[in-house]
Amino acid sequence: MKLAHLVEPGSKLKLRDIDPRDKGPFDDKQDSKIAELSAKLNARLCTLQERLFAEQKRGVLVVLQAMDTGGKDGVLRHVVGPLDSRGVMVQSFKAPNSEELAHDYLWRVHQHTPKKGQMVFFNRSHYEDVLVVRVLGLQPKDVWSKRFDQINDFERMLTAEGTRVVKVFLHISRAEQKQRLEERLKDPDKRWKFEAGDLEMRALWDEFQGAYEDALSRTSTREAPWYVVPADRKWFRDLAVAKILVDLLEDMDPRYPEPHLDLGKLVVPD
Ligand code: AMP
Ligand code: MG
Repeated sequence: MKLAHLVEPGSKLKLRDIDPRDKGPFDDKQDSKIAELSAKLNARLCTLQERLFAEQKRGVLVVLQAMDTGGKDGVLRHVVGPLDSRGVMVQSFKAPNSEELAHDYLWRVHQHTPKKGQMVFFNRSHYEDVLVVRVLGLQPKDVWSKRFDQINDFERMLTAEGTRVVKVFLHISRAEQKQRLEERLKDPDKRWKFEAGDLEMRALWDEFQGAYEDALSRTSTREAPWYVVPADRKWFRDLAVAKILVDLLEDMDPRYPEPHLDLGKLVVPD
C-alpha cells in the first residue's frame, strides 16, 4: 500500500500535484481499518527498531522537514514516542548559534548522526541551509546553490559508512496552516507554540514552497530518498510516516545477534 509519495531521483517535484488532504484508501477517521493498520505498523516498527538496536551494526537517520505547524512534533510524539529510547534520539535544529555559525553548515548536524544501532530523527536539519537561508537571503545564491551537491555527497558518505538515510517532508496546505496558526492564537493551551516570526514566515509561503520543490528535486537520491507525506490529516500523516519507517527497516532486515556464550549450558542459580 502506497501512502507517501517518493520523489523520483532526477525528477522535478511539483508540490501542487500532491493533495495535502489525501487520505489514500481510507474513508474517514473512524474507519476501523485505520486503527488496525496503525496498531500493526507501530508494533512492527517497535520490533524492527529493537532488532536494529540489538544488532549494533547499522544506523538510521530520518530527516523531518515541514512548513511551520506542519506536524513534525506530532510525528515525533505519536510515531517515535513509543520506540525504545535506548536506541532512539531526536535532535532539533533551531537558528544556528554563534559557535555553529563559525563553522560550516554540516558541522552541527554531523555530530548528531546515528551511532551503530541507533535511529536518529532530525527535527529540521541541514536542509534549512538551502531553505530558510535561501528564502531569507541569509547567504548569497552562489553559496547556497552549491549545497545541493554537497548534501548529496555528505549523505552518500553516511550511507557508505553504514547509515541509512530517509527524508520526509510533511506537506500541509496553506489553508490548514492558517487554521493551525489561528488555533495557536486562540487556544490558551496552544498559545505557547506561537512564535513571533510565524506570520512573517507564512507571508513567504510561495517562496518556501518553491525552495522545497528545488531542494527535494535536487537531493532525492536512490540511497537517500525524499518522501512527501500529505499531512493535513494528522492520522494519515502518522500512518504514512510509520509505513515509510517500517518499509525501510524491513528492507534493512536487522537481525538479533547470535549469543556469544553457549547459553544452553548455563543454569540460573536458585
Ligand atoms: P521551530 O522548529 O519552530 O522551533 O523553529 C526553529 C527555527 O529555526 C525555524 O524558524 C527555522 O527556520 C530556524 N532555523 C533552523 N535552522 C536554521 C538555519 N540553518 N538558519 C537559519 N534559521 C534556521
Ligand atoms: Mg515554530
